[in-house]
Amino acid sequence: MKIEPKQIKVKDIFDGYVDNDDDGVFAYGGKLAIRPAYQRNYVYNNVQAESVIQTVLKGFPLNIMYWVKVGDNQYEILDGQQRTLSVMQYLDHKFSILLDGKKYYWDALPDDKYDAIMNYEFMIYICEGEESEKLEWFRVVNIAGVKLTDQELLNSVYTGEWLSDAKRYFSKRNCAAKKLSDRYITGDPNRQELLEKALKGICEYQGIKEISEYMAKHKSDADANELWQYFQDVFHWVEKIFPKHYPSMKGLDWLHLYNKYHHNSYNSSVMIAEVKKLHEDEDVQKKKGIYEYLLCKDTDPYAGRLLSIRAFDKRDKMAAYTKQDGICPICKQHFNYEEMEGDHIIPWSKGGKTVPENCQMLCKDCNGKKTDKY
Ligand SMILES: [Zn+2]
Repeated sequence: MKIEPKQIKVKDIFDGYVDNDDDGVFAYGGKLAIRPAYQRNYVYNNVQAESVIQTVLKGFPLNIMYWVKVGDNQYEILDGQQRTLSVMQYLDHKFSILLDGKKYYWDALPDDKYDAIMNYEFMIYICEGEESEKLEWFRVVNIAGVKLTDQELLNSVYTGEWLSDAKRYFSKRNCAAKKLSDRYITGDPNRQELLEKALKGICEYQGIKEISEYMAKHKSDADANELWQYFQDVFHWVEKIFPKHYPSMKGLDWLHLYNKYHHNSYNSSVMIAEVKKLHEDEDVQKKKGIYEYLLCKDTDPYAGRLLSIRAFDKRDKMAAYTKQDGICPICKQHFNYEEMEGDHIIPWSKGGKTVPENCQMLCKDCNGKKTDKY
């Protein structure tokens, strides 16, 4: 890992400054990506931006910034994006500042102030090294104050054709991945949350532990087609198995569900009917659990736990306790009320409801051993 300190004048950084919006913000003669394409961070408000300019005008030091070398004479800002942007935007006539109670846009500044900004030097550490080293080091820097998400950090390290292509699918506003998955999962493309979810999913699918491993393996690929195909497979599968859309589907980990269940076969006509029935069942308290329940109920005897089946209330339990004279019907021993738990006589999965007639009290031991709890 090589970390080289460098002082660069504002006028050199401003050289060739261009804001291409979603396609990125560049400066330093085109060599520096202040913000890479399709990667938005939070943005300073005017007060914060002005305080950066005031600092520069007074010649006070700004904190050290970090650039990453991503290619021959190509850099990305890892830390210092907002400070750099503030200065660039001021020079680009985007806001004014107050000097002695007067508003000044950049072109109206007195010469000495103008020179003070242009000749101000940013303190920059340029880092260069193996990906694993960079990642480790970026995480430390990140802890010290950069507000980058894990995936944004990874994107600073594994740059290349593969990443550019992946961002086209997953990181643009209104990107194809957002359109395809918006009814099913949450995630802001600009904060790289969709890309992160897709990567997490494909890693699980392929048995890869870390996203960084996958990115390291594919960073030199010509495109990200494998990832994009996988992502499409997931949501086409969801639409196939559950053809009718419900709002409760949104926010589930569909990539994980796909990984786990896509080898099984399901009848989508049956699914439509079952989803409807479970939505109408008052004993089903967790409607979001319906989908995984239906995917696994034939193989998992405890699938019912996914639905949080409504429990008996105290009145029902008291009534059953009195009726049983405190005797547990399984072990035939007598217990205090507090030592017993309410149980569905006919399990919910066999059509038993959470109604007084279907309530019995079991001692905790017997209840724990019961296998058809749902
Ligand atoms: Zn018992």
